[in-house]
Amino acid sequence: METQRTQAAAAPPETVVIPEAVPEMSPFDRAAEHIGLSDEMRAVLRGTYRELCVQVPIRMDDGRLEVFTGYRVQHNGARGPYKGGIRYHPDADIDEVRALAALMTWKTAIVDIPYGGAKGGVQCDPTTMSQGELQRLTRRFTQMISYILGVNRDVPAPDVNTNAQTMAWMMDAYSGRYGYTPAIVTGKPVELGGSYGRDAATGRGVVYCLGEASKDLELSLVGATVAIQGFGNVGSWTARLIGELGCTVVAVSDVHGGVHREAGIDTQALFDHVSETGTVTGAPGTDAISNEELLELPVDILIPAALDRVVTGDNAHRIRARVILEAANHPVTPAADGILDANGVVVIPDILANAGGVTVSYFEWVQNIQQYRWEEDQVNAELRKTMARAWHNVHAKATVDGVPFRLAAFALAVEKVERAARLRGYV
Ligand code: NAD
Repeated sequence: METQRTQAAAAPPETVVIPEAVPEMSPFDRAAEHIGLSDEMRAVLRGTYRELCVQVPIRMDDGRLEVFTGYRVQHNGARGPYKGGIRYHPDADIDEVRALAALMTWKTAIVDIPYGGAKGGVQCDPTTMSQGELQRLTRRFTQMISYILGVNRDVPAPDVNTNAQTMAWMMDAYSGRYGYTPAIVTGKPVELGGSYGRDAATGRGVVYCLGEASKDLELSLVGATVAIQGFGNVGSWTARLIGELGCTVVAVSDVHGGVHREAGIDTQALFDHVSETGTVTGAPGTDAISNEELLELPVDILIPAALDRVVTGDNAHRIRARVILEAANHPVTPAADGILDANGVVVIPDILANAGGVTVSYFEWVQNIQQYRWEEDQVNAELRKTMARAWHNVHAKATVDGVPFRLAAFALAVEKVERAARLRGYV
């Protein structure tokens, strides 16, 4: 039986239980069971509304023609226009894009912004491509998927290996055909209608979420130790902002390895070191640590902010953190969830913890539609309110239903989408 673990954060897990392996059940299926979702609605919400697969041929700098494959998957639009990032990665295939599109449906529901869920990707290795090639790829891909995009239809954003520049090219390619349309994408450069605060938003949202959660979890943050896997956009902003709560970052890693300093790492100095060298490794005054060791440190808070599936059935019983705050998408597998729950490790799930990015994307879209710019203070204040409300809703659901936070968050999200779908007559 699932048990609510709100008290567990007050004391580190003393026993390490290795339950028998359980078949992996998706968070959606667990939530559907929990709320007694009808079979008809399950069939609608489990599948995707529309999947577009396009051929993206571009001329490379050396004159060769290379043909890439791109995807845009719209999972569910009951609550508003489809919303979700575009990633450029060799592993971006239809299964990955489909799963991430669904995650966006639940994420936008949990923070209660009026969007559905979508995701896109192009299977390519951007690390081997020039800026010219990336621009041609982005323009052609945008042209191929433009028929299903629209300010009130589907609004992309950056994701893995895409950034504000990519969004500027997308906006320009779309505007060339349909007229000047800044609200067609979010995560743009500020000069082109991007929002102040968007760059930091996901990390800032992670920190706001932890700040609210700590009150209900009776987790003292002053002097609490933190380990962060990943020092890209999300990890580096989280690391630099989490000190505002009184926490001490003792370990950080990236794809090249990690650094550890028991007395605390100067995260701004680490950021400067990364800007110079491209990696956290070798930062002055720190000891080397591997990514695996970082995950298993006896810290108060572990923040995976890099990859999916890093805490699994294989290593979950070695996790000694009291709280896992999921800044990355899907960092903890369903099998690991069961082990962590049995060991009293509190997991604050991705659809809640990292929803700050899409929340400020929503603020950017609102500003573009209003043709009015908010000050950064206003963006951050609205973000804080949104994250606090989302946390309190999830905490209340977990408490009333006696379930872990992931199940509570998915149950709330699925209920919200179900109500919208029913009202619109989908079923
Ligand atoms: P990023 O590309 O800016 O940074 C990724 C970081 O992970 C880098 O420091 C990289 O070195 C590190 N990394 C890569 N491979 C690694 C490995 N094998 N071991 C350890 N570290 C490794 O990406 P990001 O935008 O910070 O996104 C990180 C995660 O957060 C992803 O799961 C992403 O889907 C999720 N996310 C991002 C946003 C956003 O607004 N950027 C929003 C929601 C969720």
